[in-house]
Amino acid sequence: MTLSEYIQSLYAYPHRPAWAKPYDPTVAKLIVERYNRRRAQRTVHRKQNWYQKYLASGHWATFRLAVLVLSGGKCCKCGDVADHFHHLHYKSLNRERLRDVEPLCEMCHANEHNVDLAMKQVGRLAEAKGKA
Ligand SMILES: [Zn+2]
Ligand SMILES: [Zn+2]
Repeated sequence: MTLSEYIQSLYAYPHRPAWAKPYDPTVAKLIVERYNRRRAQRTVHRKQNWYQKYLASGHWATFRLAVLVLSGGKCCKCGDVADHFHHLHYKSLNRERLRDVEPLCEMCHANEHNVDLAMKQVGRLAEAKGKA
């Protein structure tokens, strides 16, 4: 499967998120060029846990590229440049679909995690109240 076929198959999969736009070869070309430039600059860390290894895998690199192409490289919350990929859950590692992740900018990604943290705290509070 070529990259464009892979991207189009992800797009065609049901329950596509709103941020995904139809495959556009011009956008794809720009994004792939930018991606390759950045990849050349990236330093490789030796000591990695399993998740860091996963993030360094070929599968994740290709999937991330597909997400960038279909989102036009934009954060799905604010439209800024996306260079973060937020997993909504980890149930589909290695076989992610578009709906499993969100392309985000650094700020919106930090916000997402603060919301997660706040939700957990609310959950704990509710639990504590339940016990009382
Ligand atoms: Zn954003
Ligand atoms: Zn995240």
